[in-house]
Amino acid sequence: MSELHKFLFDGLPVRGVIVRLTDAWTEILARRASNHHTGPYAPPVAELLGEMTAAATLMQANIKFNGALTLQIFGDGPVKVAVAEVQPNLGVRATASLLGDIPSGARLPELVNVTNKGRCAISLHPKERLPGQQPYQGVVPLHGDHREKLDKLSDVLQHYMLQSEQLDTTLVLAADDQVAAGLLIQRLPVKGEANLEGAAATGDAPGRAVHNEDEIGLNEDYNRIAILASSLTRDELLTLDVETILRRLFWEEKLLRFEPQAGADGPRFACTCSRERVAGMIRGLGVEEAEGILAERGNIEVGCDFCGRQYRFDAVDAARIFTAPGDQPPASPLVQ
Ligand SMILES: [Zn+2]
Repeated sequence: MSELHKFLFDGLPVRGVIVRLTDAWTEILARRASNHHTGPYAPPVAELLGEMTAAATLMQANIKFNGALTLQIFGDGPVKVAVAEVQPNLGVRATASLLGDIPSGARLPELVNVTNKGRCAISLHPKERLPGQQPYQGVVPLHGDHREKLDKLSDVLQHYMLQSEQLDTTLVLAADDQVAAGLLIQRLPVKGEANLEGAAATGDAPGRAVHNEDEIGLNEDYNRIAILASSLTRDELLTLDVETILRRLFWEEKLLRFEPQAGADGPRFACTCSRERVAGMIRGLGVEEAEGILAERGNIEVGCDFCGRQYRFDAVDAARIFTAPGDQPPASPLVQ
């Protein structure tokens, strides 16, 4: 069963989250494998998407925010777009669109950063948006400060957290065809506004709290715990249960544990697609385009990339879409 555990280091300005996606992750893989247009993900793509899904779940769990958190990679290699999206209730979904062959054993640079133009975006979509409020989005390249290609997703995200949140963060991520898991350790912000949560509230880029900048890399407690966390190997993260991992890494620290989130309250596969959203997307195509498809094929079929569900609209359905504007919500950009 998929599970998420949050904890604090007693008396220290450090917090942690560990996630282990099992059924939630294999459901995402199984749905892709059953799509006869695409077939299953090649192992390197599954590994990347699994790490993204684990990372997005950690980041969603780490903020108080009522809306979806989306982690996207826009690649310049065979993986064009990879998306992992996590709702505040920990419903997760993920998908990737590919073009061309995936070299076996490909790592981040070969998958999404061949010419060093790949980008990673983190977006927060508030459920109840205030008038004029835009979703927050932060974008980082897939290279370091000296344009060196980063090898791991965790390096990209740690860089993001440091750059835009001014917070020391350690991430360990791993995924295979059974498990997608991650550990996040973060120094607590000195000021609340200098983090993703504050950004979501204002719609602005995260603020730069001077105190946080001063503290980067200097907090001894954080540094000690970060070194312990970094010693966690991919193999350990994939094969050991959460209790064993926390005991092995932090047996000398005093952890304050929150109630674990598992089962109905834990991370699980959930798609937010709906017939109304697809109808909105068809309306966005315009009446001429829709009628063209209808003339050619008899109906309009749209498949959800996340869950594989097929939506079919015949001529009568389509006519209804175009005669009742405004009845349906706008299309989600995530339904392809
Ligand atoms: Zn769906």
